[in-house]
Amino acid sequence: MRRILLLHTGGTLGMTPSGDPAALAPGRFLDHLQEQVPELGRMAELSVEVPFNQDSACVEPSHVLLLARRIREAAARFDGFVIIHGTDTMAFTASMLGFLLADLGKPVVLTGSQRPLAFVRSDARSNLVNAVDLACRAIPEVGICFGTHWLRGVGSDKQSVHQFEAFHSPNLPPLAEIGAEIRLHGEAGQFPRQLPAGLGAALDLTICTVTPHPGMAWFPVPEGAKAVLIQAFGAGTLPMERPDLKAFLEVCRQRQLPVVVTSQCPFGGVDLSAYEMGRKIEAMGAISGGLHTRWAALAKLGIVLGAGGGIEQARTAFATSWAGEPMPGAAWPQA
Ligand code: ASP
Repeated sequence: MRRILLLHTGGTLGMTPSGDPAALAPGRFLDHLQEQVPELGRMAELSVEVPFNQDSACVEPSHVLLLARRIREAAARFDGFVIIHGTDTMAFTASMLGFLLADLGKPVVLTGSQRPLAFVRSDARSNLVNAVDLACRAIPEVGICFGTHWLRGVGSDKQSVHQFEAFHSPNLPPLAEIGAEIRLHGEAGQFPRQLPAGLGAALDLTICTVTPHPGMAWFPVPEGAKAVLIQAFGAGTLPMERPDLKAFLEVCRQRQLPVVVTSQCPFGGVDLSAYEMGRKIEAMGAISGGLHTRWAALAKLGIVLGAGGGIEQARTAFATSWAGEPMPGAAWPQA
């Protein structure tokens, strides 16, 4: 049997009907799993650890580094890894781990649920069983297994607070479709990936993120911000005639802050050459986030800043695929 390390980090899946988190103290989680999903024991030789147990809204870079470190330490002794994680920031953690563990060579499957495992009609049981199944398949990908799909972490985002299909990867086909059989995409795990040397030891998310709306006042960039991530309109446009936006970008330029532009639209990505309002942003030195999701862009920027990088390092990072994140003109063929 394959040896799988299951890391429980919190979220809805492990909540008890009483909602009492103490009932699932670290030592109790394995018992709870064995009671609720006894078939897991027939699927793999499972070890369970609880590195932390919290709402995923409370995830910090230190938690993600802890997971990355634990998985690397344990890599020689396990065939695959399952991480139970709250859904709210699962796509962030999956993006970070997708980059940090790009060269791990083993499956890392993140999962969670919309209803707790102990509830009737819960999606937790099937998500867990599917996640363990995928982790046993020796496919070197970091991805989210949820509902009927396994999605590459660096291309994924949460799309629903209600539906059992809580995640999508808008610009990449799924790694696997999960139905009566698990159908793997032919390209899952098929290409070399590597975080560039010198990156990933530390993360720095001192990043000012902005999601503009029509008529928004552009307040000055906060003191201490080391980069700016703007989730712009459409293909990457902003109201470039606004004096307060010009002043905002001018301060970024003076302070030499990387300014990365992603899109508010999940499908398709940024092309700063497409419209005058995009060309003007580019002329002020902004970097196109291309097809990066907001989470992949945040993770990449956090990794660059963590290594002390600035504008040029960020520009290179966004022009390069580190871990199979979708890039303009290089997306997978549709499944
Ligand atoms: N608030 C929860 C969390 O992200 C939601 C969930 O797990 O679905 O931790």
